[in-house]
Amino acid sequence: MARYSGSVCRLCRRENQKLFLKGDRCYSEKCGFERRGYPPGQHGQGRIKFSEYGLQLREKQKIKRIYGLMEKQFRSVFERADNTKGITGSNLLSMLERRLDNVAYRSGFANSRAEARQLVRHGHFFVNGKAVDIPSFMVGKGDLVEIREKSRGVARIAGALEAVKRREIPQWLELDATSMKARIRDLPARDDVTAPMQERLVVELYSK
Ligand code: SF4
Repeated sequence: MARYSGSVCRLCRRENQKLFLKGDRCYSEKCGFERRGYPPGQHGQGRIKFSEYGLQLREKQKIKRIYGLMEKQFRSVFERADNTKGITGSNLLSMLERRLDNVAYRSGFANSRAEARQLVRHGHFFVNGKAVDIPSFMVGKGDLVEIREKSRGVARIAGALEAVKRREIPQWLELDATSMKARIRDLPARDDVTAPMQERLVVELYSK
């Protein structure tokens, strides 16, 4: 699966806000956005005025980057959201939140979604007692996500659980840090996504 391999701090600077893509570093003074809070490139410090299309495009890119998806994957989640009953934008965010890599990150088993994705791919997770190594796997209400017994000593996971105090575990997840298990209490609703996102702009962009 293709993935972005350039500088991730550059993505925050491009979207003009912290996207928290690098784990611990994002909370330190080494954060690239804290040091250079303007868009990258020769004209980054000039005034940028976006057209309506530009605003829609930037919002789509931002959401896609937060969840670490490439265009094709993001578009396919959008189409699924569009074909599901309810409000497309809310469905989109709910489906992105329900991805196993996101659940692993939001539960505190990893410091970033990128790290969570790698841990999932390396087979450290069980869902309802079965090994799942697909980051896009979508969890459902009542599912139990846990760290495989053999992986409970992995330093990165223990370190992330230690650092999770810095972040808020969302209400729809119930973490038992001692047994390294997280239960999906409920499906995430729009209000559970606290990062600033205007999904309406994505819907408008893809509806053109
Ligand atoms: Fe973004 Fe984190 Fe880099 Fe800061 S350290 S610019 S929040 S990825």
